[in-house]
Amino acid sequence: MRYAETGYNLEIDLSKGNIERVETDPGDTGFYLGGLGTNAKILWDRVPPEIEPFSPDNLLIFSAGLLCGTPAIGCNRTIVTTISPQTLLMAYSMMGGFWAPELKYAGYDKVIIRGKSPDLVYLWINNDKVEIRDASHLRGKGANEATGLIQQELKEPRAQVSAIGLAGENRVYFSSIEQGRSSASRGGIGAVMGDKGLKAIAVRGTKDINIAQPDRFMELCDEVLEYIKFREKTPIRGVPPILAGLGSPQEMTTHDEQWHTTNFAWGNARYRKKDFWTEEVEKRWTESLEKVRTRLISCYNCPMKCGATINYPGLSTYMMKCYSKLTYTMASMTDLDFGFQIAQRATEYGVDAFSTPQTMAFALELYEAGILTDDDMPGMPTDSEGRFLWLLDRIVQREGIGDVLANGTYWAAKQIGKGAEEYAHNNIKKHEQLPLKLGMLNPVYFLMYCTGEKINITQIEGQFPQAPFPKREQREEFVKDWFQVPDEKFKKYFVDWEPRGENSIPYYPTPQMTCDIVDWQEKMHYIDDALGMCAGLSSFPLKPPYHLHNYPQFIASGAGIDMDEDRLNQAVKRCRTLVRANNVRRGMRRKDEKPPEDHWKKRFPELEKELLDTYYKFKGWNEQGIPTKESLHELGLDYVYEDFEKRGVYSDNDPPSKEPSTDKEKEI
Ligand code: SF4
Repeated sequence: MRYAETGYNLEIDLSKGNIERVETDPGDTGFYLGGLGTNAKILWDRVPPEIEPFSPDNLLIFSAGLLCGTPAIGCNRTIVTTISPQTLLMAYSMMGGFWAPELKYAGYDKVIIRGKSPDLVYLWINNDKVEIRDASHLRGKGANEATGLIQQELKEPRAQVSAIGLAGENRVYFSSIEQGRSSASRGGIGAVMGDKGLKAIAVRGTKDINIAQPDRFMELCDEVLEYIKFREKTPIRGVPPILAGLGSPQEMTTHDEQWHTTNFAWGNARYRKKDFWTEEVEKRWTESLEKVRTRLISCYNCPMKCGATINYPGLSTYMMKCYSKLTYTMASMTDLDFGFQIAQRATEYGVDAFSTPQTMAFALELYEAGILTDDDMPGMPTDSEGRFLWLLDRIVQREGIGDVLANGTYWAAKQIGKGAEEYAHNNIKKHEQLPLKLGMLNPVYFLMYCTGEKINITQIEGQFPQAPFPKREQREEFVKDWFQVPDEKFKKYFVDWEPRGENSIPYYPTPQMTCDIVDWQEKMHYIDDALGMCAGLSSFPLKPPYHLHNYPQFIASGAGIDMDEDRLNQAVKRCRTLVRANNVRRGMRRKDEKPPEDHWKKRFPELEKELLDTYYKFKGWNEQGIPTKESLHELGLDYVYEDFEKRGVYSDNDPPSKEPSTDKEKEI
């Protein structure tokens, strides 16, 4: 009997219209950990580096995490994996909501899509009955709108639907997959779905999931619930309000936006407004939020209510959570009210709320600089709000300059030329990053920015406070009940960390300590992405209910896999290494692993080199960031080494950058 997982994947070939239910190897789950881990293995086996993002042979994998569908609180993530058109690397974007547990209840762990449908279709998975259905009547429909229409058509309001909007249909490189209460947005995975001619996947499942040791598993779940209640009553002191509790940062309840509005950059990630937050702004923004927020909502099996339904007058309802509350407002340098208005249109179009506003702000900077002219922007309004709405429509419809901007700032800058590349200044690995411009190099963030392959920095960080608390007594107080640490040395690292002086950034934490901290933070995210756990209860907040010490018990009692902390460390290292192996094979090297040049004002080239050298060594990677023969052997990944050898990966330090032109891609 299989526990926690169903033991079956759905394989859909859209070119042939073929549907298969395929039994999976239980050994792979223990070895790679399910979810992201087994996605990475499937991609490694079946999508060699010659395969382009918009090739029929690229796979689009929707995976429920290993523990999704069990009673584990907040375990509801779908991990969507493919080759990104924007980075040309492996993308693995997560969405919460209800879709992944529903897939498990229908009897499947993953849906693996290959090929391309000649006509727009959607997939209807109703337990054992699986159909590819015509979606021509849904062409051009918004993601939420299409969801409602599909539920009506199927006469099944309980069907969970993941859908793309017009952006995905038009292969906009930052298009998302929307799912009512969540979205998978990074890496342009919606464009791959659109390229395959797949508008949506609707799922309804009514089966059970087996638990290996139900009594023990429920005890662990109860402990998590108790701890969540405890943390509700005792928020972390000394950090901004949105970081004091658990869950996704509580942007839908908090009215204190001082931290984001004064620390993050406005416009095209350019301007800090240090005195922005005033009582008057707070009052106005509170009214804006309360006017449109109709209800606080949670994902499946979670009490945290991080999201909200937003009902902007005259527009249809949509869901919002986290920092997407501010991205459009800050990029357009306008007001929160406008942010709520444009986010509705953007959600229906299905675009990433981080990349989209930045791409539009980038276009307006080029216009101000005379690089783009009135000829490129015929009929563009003169006010900022009007310009953002105008640009959003052009991008999603790929009309005029919108066709260029739809490829994201990195590719658009190359295509526009005339110095535009200087303005695409906030990318890592060809992808827009958070609009942050800070003063002093931070070694922990430096390494996360350089080596992260999840693309989104907020989904790599967590566990260790972002900055030292001002006084030693405060730090000592903080570590007293910090049982989540891998071992005691992390407490000392934090207690000794000073805001100024010898033990302050950039030289403290030391490179070795920095490696320990980054590795811990990253490890937590990779475990979550394998299990399907929401980062908001595990890898992202300080002192979360899930941690390295209780996860092995969850896996053992839930999935029946023989697991302890050492085995978990090894399995997650294997999963992380396999993600890197996929990207190394696609040409990723040390030269790609760097933060934006202007991310910090004060840079330290020698220290940065030492940090990267130390971390690569710590991880078992060579000076190019490629996993070594020894480290691959230790993880049982000798097949990766053999492939690297065959392809000459170890001797090719500067593989040619694959940069297909838009026109060429359109011909594919
Ligand atoms: S913590 Fe928030 S984002 Fe995470 S599962 Fe719960 S409601 Fe969803």
